[in-house]
Amino acid sequence: MLSESVTKLIDEFAKLPGIGKKSAERLAYHVMRAHQTEAAALADAIRSVKENVRYCRNCYNLTEQDECEICRDSKRDRGLLCVVEQPRDLIALEQPGTYNGLYHVLLGRIAPLDGIGPEQLTIEALVERIRHGSFREVIMATNPTLEGDGTALYISSLLAGMPLSITRLARGITSGSVLEFANKEILADALAGRQKF
Ligand SMILES: [Zn+2]
Repeated sequence: MLSESVTKLIDEFAKLPGIGKKSAERLAYHVMRAHQTEAAALADAIRSVKENVRYCRNCYNLTEQDECEICRDSKRDRGLLCVVEQPRDLIALEQPGTYNGLYHVLLGRIAPLDGIGPEQLTIEALVERIRHGSFREVIMATNPTLEGDGTALYISSLLAGMPLSITRLARGITSGSVLEFANKEILADALAGRQKF
């Protein structure tokens, strides 16, 4: 029989994405064997993320301030907006260093089968932002999957009639793959070769 504390730790680990019961047990035993300072550092890191990291009030990127580093950067082109699903997609698109506009993070994609509708994403904030901003181009950089494409289509229908051009990343990225795993050169090409939506 395991102690109540150990069982609780295993249960918490098992809630993490991609962690099954066996892995959760392995992690819990690792924590028990670890030095007090190592275990405390893990607990502190988790607490610190929850206390200090929040979403940027403009673009929903992760930040420890009101506005993220990209939104605060005065050298960024404020006429250009790139729409991505997750903060990790933004990080991937920043890697080539060729994009100089702003971003908007949806925090997911429309996925009817998982019960995720447009209202659970930051789409309303996006439309408001575009309505009150001075963007000349909105780049749809959702993942080239069925759901990513559907999300881009939905958003572009909301933006129809606004005085800006809507583009999407060039199809250098294999259909069905995800941005975060594409390499730098492919992402740079996809950005450079973007096409009218
Ligand atoms: Zn931001």
